[in-house]
Amino acid sequence: MSKMRFIALNELSSRKPIEVCLPSNKLSDYYASRVFDKKTMQEYLPKEAYKAVIDAIEIGTPISREKADLIANGMRNWAKSFGVTHYTHWFQPLTDGTAEKHDGFIDFSDDGDVIERFSGKLLIQQEPDASSFPSGGIRNTFEARGYTAWDVSSPAFIVDDTLCIPTIFVSYTGDALDYKTPLLKALNAVDKAATGVAQLFDKNVNKVSVNLGWEQEYFLVDSALYNARPDLCLTGRTLMGHSSAKDQQLDDHYFGSIPPRVTNFMKDLEIECHKLGIPVKTRHNEVAPNQFEFAPIFEDANLANDHNQLVMDLMKRIAQKHNFNVLFHEKPYSGINGSGKHNNWSLQTDTGINLFAPGKNPKGNMLFITFIVNAMMMVYKNQDLLRASIVSASNAHRLGANEAPPSILSVFLGKYLTKMLDELVEQVGDKKMTPEEKTALKLGIGRIPEILIDNTDRNRTSPFAFTGNRFEFRAAGSSSNCAASMIVINASMAHQLNLFRDEVENLIKLGNGKDEAIFKVLKKMIKDSKSIRFEGDGYSDNWKLEAQKRGLSNINSVPEAILKYETKSSKEVLIGENIFNERELKSRIEVELEKYVKKIQIESRVLGDLTINHIVPIAVIYQNRLLENLIGMKQIFEKDEYEQLSEARRNLVKEISEHVSSIKAMVKQMTEERKIANRIEEIKEKSFEYEKNVNPYLESIREHVDALEMEIDNEIWPLPKYRELLFAK
Ligand code: ADP
Ligand code: MG
Repeated sequence: MSKMRFIALNELSSRKPIEVCLPSNKLSDYYASRVFDKKTMQEYLPKEAYKAVIDAIEIGTPISREKADLIANGMRNWAKSFGVTHYTHWFQPLTDGTAEKHDGFIDFSDDGDVIERFSGKLLIQQEPDASSFPSGGIRNTFEARGYTAWDVSSPAFIVDDTLCIPTIFVSYTGDALDYKTPLLKALNAVDKAATGVAQLFDKNVNKVSVNLGWEQEYFLVDSALYNARPDLCLTGRTLMGHSSAKDQQLDDHYFGSIPPRVTNFMKDLEIECHKLGIPVKTRHNEVAPNQFEFAPIFEDANLANDHNQLVMDLMKRIAQKHNFNVLFHEKPYSGINGSGKHNNWSLQTDTGINLFAPGKNPKGNMLFITFIVNAMMMVYKNQDLLRASIVSASNAHRLGANEAPPSILSVFLGKYLTKMLDELVEQVGDKKMTPEEKTALKLGIGRIPEILIDNTDRNRTSPFAFTGNRFEFRAAGSSSNCAASMIVINASMAHQLNLFRDEVENLIKLGNGKDEAIFKVLKKMIKDSKSIRFEGDGYSDNWKLEAQKRGLSNINSVPEAILKYETKSSKEVLIGENIFNERELKSRIEVELEKYVKKIQIESRVLGDLTINHIVPIAVIYQNRLLENLIGMKQIFEKDEYEQLSEARRNLVKEISEHVSSIKAMVKQMTEERKIANRIEEIKEKSFEYEKNVNPYLESIREHVDALEMEIDNEIWPLPKYRELLFAK
């Protein structure tokens, strides 16, 4: 067996679960112990400093320098009680993952003594040397200044020996360079718009916040095997590998019992999450072997998103302790399920009403229907923008590719609501409604069961499914930042709700009563958006044809989907609602296209290297062995007998030769295509070139390698195989 694979498998065979040290106290005793939350703030901050933070969170009052000093001092004292020595501004640049630059509290006092210092200035703003984060041309390196600034709405926390302060990341000129800045703007926009609409029904509503409950899917792989797969290490996915004779066909992994090594990893992770105030709750196996899911209780979207980023980071670290590597790639293995990150999304008023849950009376139900219909219309009108928000080189394998569901956006409502909306369309005529008609309509609406969540049928193939009290956006990729889709969904919803309110107010001005105006606008929206509603199997080929007839988009090209950020209607949403300015939007598109090009470039290089340096030489060695065998046979047997007995082997030699020649030729062509693409300066053109002329080689070269894997002696095959990667426990 090849040395690398041999060592990896040997190491694996000696693996035992690493025992987890469970805390002796109750969960509620250590929950959020590492978070500078309101309770801790009250303990560590003078009253006026505490009030300054609360005012900043609730009404956005700026924090004065003096107060900031007091807050920083309290924060440092709290952190010191955990032996913390460093602090960092923690932010989310446009790469995957988070960034941090640790600085020690260490400083010299005026007398030259070493002291620990953490001032308000350092708490509020930091200037990381940010020239190497992607900025899409906003920041020239000669003035590479980016600033991080404290996001008071997300509390500081401690990881290891470091105090982490969640921050936004902006350029010298104030342009956003991260995910958090536009997310906060989108949440603000939807708050204003939804409050305006909710006030049509209830004047007591003053604020609408966004809830996000994410579900994180991932694969675990033993780290010895991972390290013996350069493709996994460098690209996050297997670029080759014949499918295992058994994988997910028996459906025996989903909700099956979790292997002890994995359980211990999960327990460890849960404890760390709970200390950080992350309310993780659910853990289970997923469909594919060695695939799992992790989900918390939903929270305010900004916090939930920070927590998702933090959890992804914790998962990587804690997995290492248990000799695992976590794969967040959307499709690490071909032939079996990929991983998503479902975003459960709802809107909630400060009066405690979930706007996507039926109310207690007809008025509450009208409010509910208004928001459901607006959400549906939002998806209908912004399907391309939603698609843009989730597209990436890696998620492209999960949507619209071979063996993946089509990349069509649709909304699933369930039988009950579908019927209800269809009835509403029939009942509301174009003429003025009679009082009887109005009563009948309200009665109908009044009959929605209060707890729809138990009455909603589930459709697991819908990308945007109503699940009783929320929508679940399932198209987002497991490696993505939730903010990417949350920015677009909330900005689009804000835009939609603003249009809705304008239309209702117009009708009222024209002499319609309020309820009637609302009914009329809703009716029109239900009719106009009808084609986005789909209750059937979203993975089927029939749906593709049907969606095409309905005129729904089905964009499979990655650069094409990214460019949907800059259509007229997308700009109306993103620039119109002040989420981005022109420059920021342009730079974001550029960053996404760059990321795409680089990922394909890296995959193509790694594949070239692996095939030429690992696979082809092994194939030749095996072929030589066959040739020796044939020569020997020829010496022993008579011609006829030799020809008969050696036929299969002679064919094998031929097949191996053909695969090897094809691989070599294609790698050469792929390299040439890369060179041509690399000469293109303009990023749009370059990304299309990469997609059209480089990307296809990844699939076609792999076919030959996977065929060789089946032909060559298992003993000498250089890379851990699918059955080993997927079934090692
Ligand atoms: P599933 O059946 O899809 O796996 P779960 O019950 O595990 O769903 O919940 C998925 C996520 O949805 C969890 O994070 C949960 O807290 C969240 N969730 C539940 N209700 C809401 C809501 N009203 N708004 C947003 N998220 C919610
Ligand atoms: Mg779900």
